[in-house]
Amino acid sequence: MSKVTEIFGTMVFDEAVMREKLPPEAYERMALTLKKGKRLDIETANIIASAMKDWAIELGATHFTHWFQPMTGVTAEKHDSFIAPSKDGKIIMDFTGKELVSGESDASSFPSGGLRATFEARGYTAWDPTSFAFVKDNTLYIPTAFCSFGGEALDGKTPLLRSMEAVNREALRILRLFGNDTVTAVKSTVGAEQEYFLIDTEMFDRRPDLIYTGRTLFGAKAPKGQELDDHYFGIIKPRVKEFMAELDEELWKVGVLSKTEHNEGAPCQHELAPIFGTTNIATDHNQLTMELMQKIAKKHGMVCILHEKPFSGVAGSGKHNNWSLSTDTGANLLEPGDTPFENAQFLLFLTAVIKAVDDYQELLRISVASAGNDHRLGASEAPPAVVSMFLGDEITAVLDAIENEGSVDAKDKEMMKIGVHVLPKFPKASSDRNRTSPFAFTGNKFEFRMLGASASIASANIVLNTAVAEVLKRFADELEGASDFNSALHNLIRRTVIAHKRILFNGNGYDDAWIAEAEARGLANLRTTPDALDRYLDEKNIKLFTENKVFSENEMKARHQIHMERYAKVLNIEARTMVGMVRGSILPAVAKYVRELSEAGIAARDFIGNAPLTFERETVALLTELSEKAYALMKALDSANIEAKALKCPRDRAHAYKNTVLPLMEELRVAVDSMERRVPAKDWPYPSYGNILFGVK
Ligand code: ADP
Ligand code: MG
Repeated sequence: MSKVTEIFGTMVFDEAVMREKLPPEAYERMALTLKKGKRLDIETANIIASAMKDWAIELGATHFTHWFQPMTGVTAEKHDSFIAPSKDGKIIMDFTGKELVSGESDASSFPSGGLRATFEARGYTAWDPTSFAFVKDNTLYIPTAFCSFGGEALDGKTPLLRSMEAVNREALRILRLFGNDTVTAVKSTVGAEQEYFLIDTEMFDRRPDLIYTGRTLFGAKAPKGQELDDHYFGIIKPRVKEFMAELDEELWKVGVLSKTEHNEGAPCQHELAPIFGTTNIATDHNQLTMELMQKIAKKHGMVCILHEKPFSGVAGSGKHNNWSLSTDTGANLLEPGDTPFENAQFLLFLTAVIKAVDDYQELLRISVASAGNDHRLGASEAPPAVVSMFLGDEITAVLDAIENEGSVDAKDKEMMKIGVHVLPKFPKASSDRNRTSPFAFTGNKFEFRMLGASASIASANIVLNTAVAEVLKRFADELEGASDFNSALHNLIRRTVIAHKRILFNGNGYDDAWIAEAEARGLANLRTTPDALDRYLDEKNIKLFTENKVFSENEMKARHQIHMERYAKVLNIEARTMVGMVRGSILPAVAKYVRELSEAGIAARDFIGNAPLTFERETVALLTELSEKAYALMKALDSANIEAKALKCPRDRAHAYKNTVLPLMEELRVAVDSMERRVPAKDWPYPSYGNILFGVK
C-alpha cells in the first residue's frame, strides 16, 4: 500500500505543506489559528495566499474558488482565474490575501428565507482556515462560510462553527472542574458513513422520475429484492470495484480518509466509511465524498443515487453520524476510562448527552427532516421517526445502579457512589450492537442514524453540539457553585438519569409496540417534515440557539421558511413528473396494449368461434378499469398540485402538499404499479425495478 501513502493528501494545502512553504513566522501564526482559532492578520493572509497560489499552480491549478454550502444542501462554487493584467500588457498569476480570506458572491439565487433584501443581493464568503484548501479539477478550492452583509448565516458552515465554539467553551468548564488545566480545546468529532446506490446510466436515462426527482415514483416490485441478503455478503462486482478504487484514490488525494467500502443491504447499494475527524472538516469531506461519488460513477457508466428512498420496497440510504468530543491532548471524552476518576467524568458527559437528546429530541428529528427522508424514517429498515437512545447492557446496568442506590445491597451502593474514588472499572465496549436504534452508544461515541443519505451532516451536528453545550453549561453552573464537588456530582448524575430515562430504549426500534410505548412515554413522534418543522420555532428551541449564539431568531425564522418551501418544491416536482409520465407515456402504452389484446381476441374469435378468451377479457377489463382510475387520480393530482402551489404562506403550502398531494401520489402509484404488472415488459415505457436493480453486471 505504499501507493496510498504516496498519494494521500497530495492535493491538500495541509500543515505539512504549510510548514514547508511558509516562512516560519507566518507558519507560527497560521498554527495558532488552526489550534486556537486566532484571527489571521492581513499580512499573514497575503503571505499564505501567495504560497498557496504557487503550490496550486504547480499542481496545475489555473482557477480558485470559494467553496461553500448554501442552504440548498449541496455545495456551491464560483470560479475565478488567477490571471491579472501586468504592466507590460501580459498577464501574471495573482492571488491576494484578501481574495483568500473573503469573497463576494451574488447570493440572490441561493435560498435565504427573506434574510437578504433584494436590493442587497450580495453575500460574502469567509475562509475557514481550519478546513484545508485543496486542488481538484485544476482549481484551488478554499473552504468557506457564507454570510449576508448583515452577518447572518446563509449556509450550514457558519452555524456549525458557532456550535463547535459553544461546545468547546462549556466542555472546557467541565474539564476544569475535574481539575484538568492542560486541555485548551475540545472539539466535536464525526465519522459519517455514507450509503448510496449505483445503477447503470442507460437505465437511469430512461427514467424521468430518477432524472427529475432522484427517486422512482412508480415501479412494481421485482420478483427478487433483498430477502436473501446475498448482496450484502456477496462479492463486489468488478465494475463497482473499479469505481470504488478510483473513488478512494481521488478522495485520498484531497485528504479524505476513506477507510471502508462495502456492499449494503439492498441490491446495488453500497457504503463508504471514512476515518473520523473534526466536525467541520468531516462535514466538508462528506460533501466532497458525495460530489466525487457522483462524478466518478459517471466515468464508469453508472449513476450514483444519493436519494434517501430511491426504490420502494428495498432499503433506503442513510448516513450514520458517529459523534464524540475530543480534547486537544487526544482524549475522547466519551471513552470510559481506566480509573474511577476518569469514569466519573465520562459519566457526566454521557448523562449530558442523554439529557441533551431528551430535551431537544424534536430538534434532532427536525435536523434530519426532508421530503426524501420522510420515506425512510419509519419504514421497516430505518430508524423510526421517534428519537430514542440505546446504551447497551453494561452502561444501562451502571445507570440503573446509580438510580436505585437506595434499593441495592450495601456493597453495590457504595460501589455506585460517583466519587473520585469509588466508581468501579467499566466494562469496555458494549458487545451487543443494536442496529435499530436512532441514537446508539457504540463504546466510545454515539451513532446518530436518522440522517438521510443526501443531506449535509451540518444540521444534525449543529443541533447535537448546541444541545450538548447547553446541558454542559447548566451542569457547570451547578457544579461550580457546589461546596462538596463529589456529592454534587453524584446528585446531578443521578437526578439527570432519573429525569431523562424515558429517552433510553434498548429494544427493537422497528417494533410497532415501541412506537406506542414511546408515545405513552411522551416522546415526540413527528412523522413528516412539515409536522417536525412546526416544532422548530418552539420557545425552548429559540432559547437554545439564541442563548448559545448559534442562530439569531431571524436566522431561525429564515431557515424554517426555507425548509417548508423546499419540502413543497420537492413535492411539486414529484407531482408534475408523475402527471407527465402517466399522461405522456403510461396511459398511452396501456391503451395500445389494450387495443392489441382486444384485436387479438376478436381475431381469435373470428378464427375459431366461441373461444373463451378469458385472459384477453379479464386483462382488458382490469386494465381498462385501472387506467380509468389512474386517469382520474392523475387529474386530481394535477389540480391538487396547482392548488397547493398557489398558497402564499410557506407553512400552509408544505402542509397542503403533505395532506392533499402526497396521498394522491401514493394512490396513483398503486394503480400504475398494478398496470405495470399486467402489461408485457416490452410494452411498458420504462425499465422495470428488476432491470434497474440488477442491471449493473
Ligand atoms: P459500523 O459498525 O457502524 O460500520 P465502524 O466502526 O465501521 O462502525 O465505523 C464507525 C465510524 O465511526 C467510522 O467512520 C469511525 O471513524 C467513526 N469513529 C470512531 N471513533 C470516533 C470518534 N471518537 N468520534 C467520531 N467518530 C468516530
Ligand atoms: Mg454504522
